[in-house]
Amino acid sequence: MSESDRDMLIVDNQQCPVCAKESATFTEFEIEDAFAGPIAIFTIRCNDCGFRNSDLEFLEPGVPAEYSVDIESKEDLSIRVIKSGECEIKIPNFRISVDSTMNSEGFITNVEGVIVKFQKQIISLKDGEEDKAKRKTLKNLLKGIDQVLAGEKKITMKMIDKSGNSAIVSDKVTVKKLRATKK
Ligand SMILES: [Zn+2]
Repeated sequence: MSESDRDMLIVDNQQCPVCAKESATFTEFEIEDAFAGPIAIFTIRCNDCGFRNSDLEFLEPGVPAEYSVDIESKEDLSIRVIKSGECEIKIPNFRISVDSTMNSEGFITNVEGVIVKFQKQIISLKDGEEDKAKRKTLKNLLKGIDQVLAGEKKITMKMIDKSGNSAIVSDKVTVKKLRATKK
């Protein structure tokens, strides 16, 4: 579906949650997903401070679940990932999980896209780290991530979403149902 076919709702001049100026644009549109059915995508972008975020919601309620998949080859990097703002991503091999900024962001990408997001965060952490030993740990972590992106290292990726708005789309995936969150 091209951008112009989308039925998009755009609301300008909204209050930005970061700078509080009324210069944020909210958009909402629906996509049709082969796995999850219709999904609503929400974005916010502030024209003043540059803040942006996105989230998504399944219009046909999904199952609160923990998804787990082994990434064993370069092909597995293209496994599709649908992540809502409430979903937590974990890579136990690296002892890493999403930080608070990534935690509140919803997006549709693939395994590679998730790993590259982690990579970017770790690079900026490393660049800001004064402690030599900690820098070295982060450097080693980045080496491990490079190996995964080259298809040379096997990891397990987990996605936990009690709101039921996330999924890893693959035949290889293990799904454990969870109790729904009470709202
Ligand atoms: Zn702003």
